[in-house]
Amino acid sequence: MIVDIDTCTACGLCYEEVPEVFANRGDGLPIVYIKPFKEDTLQRLQKVAQDCPSGSIILE
Ligand code: SF4
Repeated sequence: MIVDIDTCTACGLCYEEVPEVFANRGDGLPIVYIKPFKEDTLQRLQKVAQDCPSGSIILE
């Protein structure tokens, strides 16, 4: 997974919806925790990637 910080609008959706994966790094932009995901987390991650208003979350 990649988060494109250049296009991210710091809306906060990702760390509000999937806090076990994303966190506010302090300026509104997200940081990503790298660790194994549970199935439930993966489903919410896929949804937030779709819902990201700037399309900045790229799942690989
Ligand atoms: S949902 Fe998208 S635009 Fe909003 S903070 Fe996360 S990566 Fe940035």
